[in-house]
Amino acid sequence: MDLPELIKICKTEQRAFDYLLREVQKIKGIQCPSCGSPDYYLMNQTRLRCKRCRRDYSPFTNTPISGQKIPIVSLLLLIKLFELEVSARKACSQVDISYPTTLKAFELFRRSIASHLAREDILLKGEIEADESYFGGRRKGKRGRGAGHKTIVFGILERGGKVSVSILSNVKAESLLNETVKKVRRGSIVYTDKWCGYDSLMFCGYRHLSIDHQYKFKQGKVYINGIEGFWSFAKERLMKHHGISKEMFLYYIKEMEWRYNNREKVLFADLIHIILGADL
Ligand SMILES: [Zn+2]
Repeated sequence: MDLPELIKICKTEQRAFDYLLREVQKIKGIQCPSCGSPDYYLMNQTRLRCKRCRRDYSPFTNTPISGQKIPIVSLLLLIKLFELEVSARKACSQVDISYPTTLKAFELFRRSIASHLAREDILLKGEIEADESYFGGRRKGKRGRGAGHKTIVFGILERGGKVSVSILSNVKAESLLNETVKKVRRGSIVYTDKWCGYDSLMFCGYRHLSIDHQYKFKQGKVYINGIEGFWSFAKERLMKHHGISKEMFLYYIKEMEWRYNNREKVLFADLIHIILGADL
């Protein structure tokens, strides 16, 4: 949805409500939480009344936004600002909602995205690039593999396709293989750097080719520039959030995966569906 359209919907709380009601209807249908009947009367602004058992209810019960105290107009604006990658710190003053409430809403959006991605059962195939990268931890210390208090993110990218990331506790062969086997179809070609953790890929049904970054970054088709492009994409964006907590980091990096995989798309409608349909 473009801005002029959103502005029309956000003219009144009623219009915003009607819009979200239509979206919920499309995604999961509407059912009375007491008796399950899909028939309702539209009551004042934000309530529905069941035609069968006459109970009043909100159409957003059982969606992640049911506990939100934010007016629907503001919620839609926050979703738009989130889509446009405005930080919670800046978005709160645009919408006149407190920072903690805005941050809570943004974290809800992120958790919805992660839960949506977890339900997608992707299997990457063909030419694959695999690599790990280290995030966070401002303190000085060991760099690269084995870096003390940094978070290890493992990334797998299908050339011409999607990227998929996960957080690992270490970069031992077993962890790297487990993740690869879960996400990459056997028979694919996997390109990595020279890290020995990848050596046993060839015993697991993959063709494994590696490039030694000490000497060269590319040899014919053997390179991992694709996944490295994703690391830059993610790091550049995560930099504006100062000090992401360890508990929340997974949701931020999954958001990056989702943004990268949809970088050519306008994301508002997808976001609305992901948030309303999330099972948190
Ligand atoms: Zn009912």
